[in-house]
Amino acid sequence: MRPEGLRRPWLGGHVLCGGRRNEATVDRRFGPEEPKPRSRDCFQGRGKPHANSSRNGFLSESLEKAMKYLDEYRDPQMVRRLAEQIAHLVRRPWNIMEVCGGQTHAIMRFSLDALLPTEITLIHGPGCPVCVTPVETVDRAIWLASQSGVILCSFGDMLRVPGSQKDLFTAKSEGGDVRVVYSPLDAVRLAQRYPDQEVVFFAIGFETTAPANAAAVRLAKQWGLKNFSLLAAHVLVPPAMEAVLQAPGCQVHGFLAAGHVCTVTGMEPYRTIADRYRTPIVVTGFEPVDILRGILCCVRQLEEGRHEVENAYGRSVRPEGNLLAQRQIEEVFQRCDRKWRGIGVIQGSGLELRPEYAQFDAVRRFGLEQLSAEEPAECIAGQVLQGIKKPVECPLFGTACTPEHPRGAPMVSAEGACAAYYRYRPVASSPNKHR
Ligand code: SF4
Repeated sequence: MRPEGLRRPWLGGHVLCGGRRNEATVDRRFGPEEPKPRSRDCFQGRGKPHANSSRNGFLSESLEKAMKYLDEYRDPQMVRRLAEQIAHLVRRPWNIMEVCGGQTHAIMRFSLDALLPTEITLIHGPGCPVCVTPVETVDRAIWLASQSGVILCSFGDMLRVPGSQKDLFTAKSEGGDVRVVYSPLDAVRLAQRYPDQEVVFFAIGFETTAPANAAAVRLAKQWGLKNFSLLAAHVLVPPAMEAVLQAPGCQVHGFLAAGHVCTVTGMEPYRTIADRYRTPIVVTGFEPVDILRGILCCVRQLEEGRHEVENAYGRSVRPEGNLLAQRQIEEVFQRCDRKWRGIGVIQGSGLELRPEYAQFDAVRRFGLEQLSAEEPAECIAGQVLQGIKKPVECPLFGTACTPEHPRGAPMVSAEGACAAYYRYRPVASSPNKHR
């Protein structure tokens, strides 16, 4: 039997941003040189059986359906057609920022930037929740994990994120009770099972994970648990986009907004930003066809002088978002100023527990307000997260800093830009389309 809280730990890294990626999917790259052998018939919904379909006895019917709806958004012919449309449309140079680590990884993995005309530059934004969690919050988690009688529960990605002295893995190896969970509800169940121990859930993530964490707090209250708390480090995407636009010398002309975040928030929070900064924002998905559609919509708006919020991910995002999830967040959390790794404090960019749920706030319960730490000077994560520098411009990239020995969070996270470059484009001489 698997130990408590260790079910499916390999998925831990992806639930932070809403669980979009699925490592069980086939990890095949395609690009101009290596087209994926997939018929366009499938995309048009009248396809012949795939070579690996259940009809050949390899996949269950449900898995076949799942793969179909994944593969059709990776159709090489559709990808090329979209790239051609973008090339046909573009007249001037445009910088477009994606604000989602999942999109960054898809761009690198499928070499989508190499398909674009030279006028289009893609810039990575602060779109990885693990990467933007500041070092002092990691230190607080490590401190908690080191206390006797405390069980610290976390998603998998956070265990290797360096604090100022060590990471959570090291704290665990030193005897700390650190458990990888797949859901905050696992942590609530642990609190119920071990009433004599304090159970703290390390709650990081964007708007995508906040509803589940709010539900966990409500459940703990409903069950009358006195030993459950959240180390809340939630961050919100729209304030970060505004911070990017307000930064001196900002070169961003348009945004690809993260589709999973908008599934929760809807499109409304972005309208003010698009109007105020006269910047188009296109809600975009994560597969190659999704991303190129987002870029196409963005380029079309830029060329036509429009600045609207547009939905290129209609199969998932409704304009109003998920109202039930929004109510969950609203009931348990309120907005606060939040520090972002390497960027600093962004006003109104975080979520903290409301006063009526203060008993579940680990920072107050354990008196962690004063615990602070400086970001490591050698890691340029702040510049990478703002798209000012590419990961390969960091002197430590691929030498002192690797996924095995990370010096900063962007090299650890499955959504981190440094990890994406290390995995898919480790040499600086490769297509220089990213900034
Ligand atoms: S390569 Fe490593 S040290 Fe450099 S910015 Fe990325 S995470 Fe930080």
